[in-house]
Amino acid sequence: MNPDDDVIIIGAGIGGLAFALALQRAGVPFRIYESAPELKPLGVGLNLLPHAIKALTDLGLQKRLLAKGVETREYSFYTRHGQHVYSEPRGMFAGYDWPQISIHRGDLHSVLLEAVKERCGADKVVLDHKCVAVEQDETGVTVRFDNGKGETLAPQRGAIAVACDGVHSVLRRQHHPKEAVPRYEGTTQYRGTTRLQPFLSGASMAYLGTYETGKLIIYPIRNNIDAEGRQLVNWVIELSKPNDQLLRDWNRQCSVDEFIANFEDWRFDWMDVPAVLRAADSIYEYPMVDQDPLPFWTVGRTTLMGDAAHPMMPRGSNGAAQAIIDGITLAPMLAARDDWPAVLKDYEAQRLKATGDVVLANREIAPDAVLRVVHERTGGQPFRDIADVISRDELVQWQERYRKVAGFAADDLRKAD
Ligand SMILES: Cc1cc2nc3c(=O)[nH]c(=O)nc-3n(C[C@H](O)[C@H](O)[C@H](O)COP(=O)(O)OP(=O)(O)OC[C@H]3O[C@@H](n4cnc5c(N)ncnc54)[C@H](O)[C@@H]3O)c2cc1C
Repeated sequence: MNPDDDVIIIGAGIGGLAFALALQRAGVPFRIYESAPELKPLGVGLNLLPHAIKALTDLGLQKRLLAKGVETREYSFYTRHGQHVYSEPRGMFAGYDWPQISIHRGDLHSVLLEAVKERCGADKVVLDHKCVAVEQDETGVTVRFDNGKGETLAPQRGAIAVACDGVHSVLRRQHHPKEAVPRYEGTTQYRGTTRLQPFLSGASMAYLGTYETGKLIIYPIRNNIDAEGRQLVNWVIELSKPNDQLLRDWNRQCSVDEFIANFEDWRFDWMDVPAVLRAADSIYEYPMVDQDPLPFWTVGRTTLMGDAAHPMMPRGSNGAAQAIIDGITLAPMLAARDDWPAVLKDYEAQRLKATGDVVLANREIAPDAVLRVVHERTGGQPFRDIADVISRDELVQWQERYRKVAGFAADDLRKAD
């Protein structure tokens, strides 16, 4: 095998590793270069919706993911007063052919990395290689690297380069140097994990409140983490606030003092929210930013994938899902044809608009849109009976609308088979 024929993957995050597994399955040679000197299980929780699990099942990973994460049973919606608005089943409990899995990003990353090592060899992911530029000519690409400390490393040659290097993508900047700065929605997200006894169904994802007064999303991501049967529970807070820094750093830690005042009176019979937030292992801050969809991703023998291609607000569990679906889409196309620059253009044609629609939809509608409707109709005050505020039919319609927009309506997924 001539290494010059390889696909060069830049970035061994969720998208890069899933793409690697899809290439391996399709029999396409590749190498991965990652800037981090060590791959650690970073981040907190995320949700893999049925369309993501469908793709990961194709890669033979469903069992491993279920063993690490929690199969989400239901979504439950509550007002900031703890009043129940609506619950609905999820994943296979809702009749999908695939489960929905809530999981620590580090566990998802480890499952993908272990599978790459098992199937392709432990040396397949080359660490400490930070891409700084990509050049190309008629026959291939030359990817330039340094070690993150300014020392230049040997350039690497391949047939094409796919940038899976996340929200600060070097290739994206190279091809779109005048792109506008990220767009801030006006809300900031705080994310953390707390060790807790199971709450509600033991596999519920609960949404509470709206972002003006404070919004909380909380769900378990690991079962039975100790002898008392506690779970690792992920929580996310969204709060309106001015933010002129917009630091897109997934590892930026902050203190509970940033937001706890908004939640001091959130004490319900099924959860003492301030106690949960105070007991967090660690807390991270991330601004709710995205970027307008790009006019193109592919230039000759190079293209973008995952967050490098379509950074979206971390809402609605679609960032990881869309990155995984990108890779699952491109790999068999590369296996089927030799004219790879044209294949990269076809991949762009299949995925650019589809993912751009998700970026834009994330601005318009959130999974908990029903809570906004209830907030507006009640003026944020407690209600006597939810039926006085919104009918059951309307609640169902809001949820179905969101599923369509986010790309995981059950019928649409089956049609895609
Ligand atoms: C450390 C970290 C923690 C995260 N935590 C969460 C979380 O808790 N919840 C959540 O919803 N999302 C989180 N995300 C984002 C989430 O993983 C992505 O939105 C989503 O999975 C899409 O995956 P991706 O592969 O496109 O990007 P990412 O998963 O971000 O992967 C990008 C990879 O590229 C590497 N890289 C970056 N620049 C270069 C370069 N110049 N050369 C080579 N390699 C490079 C990065 O180190 C990383 O491994 C996190 C991302 C990171 C990197």
